Amino acid sequence: MKPLSNFIFYFVFGFFCFQSNAQLFDFQIHEKREAQLSEGLRLQETSIAGSGFDVLHYRCEWAINPAQRFISGRVRCDFRILADTQSLFWFDFSSALTVDSVVFRGQSPDFGFSGNNLFWVKANPVLNLGQVDSISIFYHGVPNNSGFGSFNKDSHAGQPIIWTLSCPYGSRDWWPCVQNHRDKADSIDLIIRVPANCRAAGNGKLLAEIQTDSSRTFYWKHKHPIAAYLVATAVTNYAAFSTKVHLPSQSEGDSMQVLNYVYPEALTSASFNLPKVMPILQYYDSLAGPYPFRDEKYGHAQFGWGGGMEHQTMSFMTDFSFSLQAHELAHQWFGNHITCRSWRDVWLNEGWATYMAALAERRFETANFQSWLNTTQSAVRASAGGSVWVDDTSNINRVFDSRLTYKKGALLLHMLRWELGDPAFWAGVRAYQADPALVYGYASTSQFVQHLEASSGKDLSQFLQEWFYGQGYPTCSLKLSKEGLGIYRLRISQTTSHSSVPFFHLKIPVRFTGIGHDTTLIFRPDSAGQEYLLSLPFEVSAMAFDPQKWLLAKSVVQVLTNLAPLKKPKEFAEVLPNPFTDSIEVRMLKKEALKIRLYSLSGEELLQKVFAPGEPLRILTHNLSSGSYLLLLESGKETMVRKVLKAWK
Ligand SMILES: [Zn+2]
Repeated sequence: MKPLSNFIFYFVFGFFCFQSNAQLFDFQIHEKREAQLSEGLRLQETSIAGSGFDVLHYRCEWAINPAQRFISGRVRCDFRILADTQSLFWFDFSSALTVDSVVFRGQSPDFGFSGNNLFWVKANPVLNLGQVDSISIFYHGVPNNSGFGSFNKDSHAGQPIIWTLSCPYGSRDWWPCVQNHRDKADSIDLIIRVPANCRAAGNGKLLAEIQTDSSRTFYWKHKHPIAAYLVATAVTNYAAFSTKVHLPSQSEGDSMQVLNYVYPEALTSASFNLPKVMPILQYYDSLAGPYPFRDEKYGHAQFGWGGGMEHQTMSFMTDFSFSLQAHELAHQWFGNHITCRSWRDVWLNEGWATYMAALAERRFETANFQSWLNTTQSAVRASAGGSVWVDDTSNINRVFDSRLTYKKGALLLHMLRWELGDPAFWAGVRAYQADPALVYGYASTSQFVQHLEASSGKDLSQFLQEWFYGQGYPTCSLKLSKEGLGIYRLRISQTTSHSSVPFFHLKIPVRFTGIGHDTTLIFRPDSAGQEYLLSLPFEVSAMAFDPQKWLLAKSVVQVLTNLAPLKKPKEFAEVLPNPFTDSIEVRMLKKEALKIRLYSLSGEELLQKVFAPGEPLRILTHNLSSGSYLLLLESGKETMVRKVLKAWK
């Protein structure tokens, strides 16, 4: 899902009939509404619902007239029993609704509500492991409206509309279900009766549309597993139009339907803008893996909430902007095909959708990717703390925090791409999207990261600890000084914005520029204040930290090469032999303490040894491969650099 802005995000929370009237933006009203919201936002992620059975299928039959905020209907839940002697069946369901009857094997079992959001049915006889059966619940009433407004009534151009938006805990407000992230229904049927001038949006394929004088019934069938919060409908006097798209994953000649339900007054602009989703569908299909519901459809339904919501196979959206289409479409892979196992891992939905939309904007040049990186990184660094991992899933504001879940989540993916390189990163992502244990089900962060580890051969536990669980970001200070002709010393220091991470392990690209030259070297400091000795074949005049903005880090860069001309370094020692083979010996003019450091030409320190005055000054070099190295000698305040060569044996 994507709220259009933080302001709207807060403002529309929990209100039945929000009218987008700018005059309402009055500070006091805003404050009061937020205060009202915060109480209702404390919700439990898990419940007892679904214990002991596996949901196979929901057949939902609803009557909805958008002129009246009301629902009536029946939900039949087909299930398989997971343990012997199962008799009590719990559903997530709001007691604001009236249950007219419950049917189990043609009989009327005992049933009732427990608290505000749990409903139970006592089956007789008890059922045993592996048995398949069903319970039908007939109900009616005026649903609650929790979260982002789970069952909303509004209007457009004078016409009424009702839409649902159950994410994350609002399904139970309007239908009996299991909304925990444990069990997706394997398939659903939605049979929705609406007034004769209306259409009802739904998940899956539209099998039938039956018209009578007074009503129209829409029969939607979805044959893929679906989480309860992604089941949705929206009812108004929609205009419909449909196109076909061929996806790279489809056989030649095959195509898929893209079906749009839009307000009649928006048909012209929708007809122009919504087809833009087709190249994005093709792009994602080739980048992340086949579109998961290509045997059914993709589509959009217009609604009045301030943003978009990725209902499975039919995203609801307020407008038809490229970025909103790209965001909601990405969720069909990241969120719907594979759903976050807990809202603690919601970045697997929202960080991914944010990042994929940014990549689509770059691919189709609808926005500048570097500008997106700049503004997104600045927005995340606007506060010193906060983790991508959600520490409080009862707080919807925290779960859908724009800075942490969306922006920082997206930047973590960008950094993982940099860390692993594109081939390993995308191979890991495609393997994740093809993992039979995860697809059409749920995944945790570690299950996602395991795929990246497998494709790259790298251990990402430190990355997760620092960037996912840890808070804040690093500030790197780079200081470059000249040590001799073509020899530079680079010192990389680091401070962090939050005490939960004392040091971030970064793969830092640094670009060195001189007249007619530039070169980029990669550094991986493993502690703050690490020094590198560099041999660069040109006079460095400037240095840039992470010029392509891969890293969520601030930097301070200092180049000291244009200071006064260097004095010729004082020679206080002799290095021999040069070229060397198994050892290097240093002879000092005076018997003083000496520190010897040996560097590769890319600046990596390979060896460091401190000698007391008079100690034999010899380092063993038989482990080094042949080639050039830099030797740094430090004695008191004097330093000397020698380029040395290890000869072939
Ligand atoms: Zn989203």
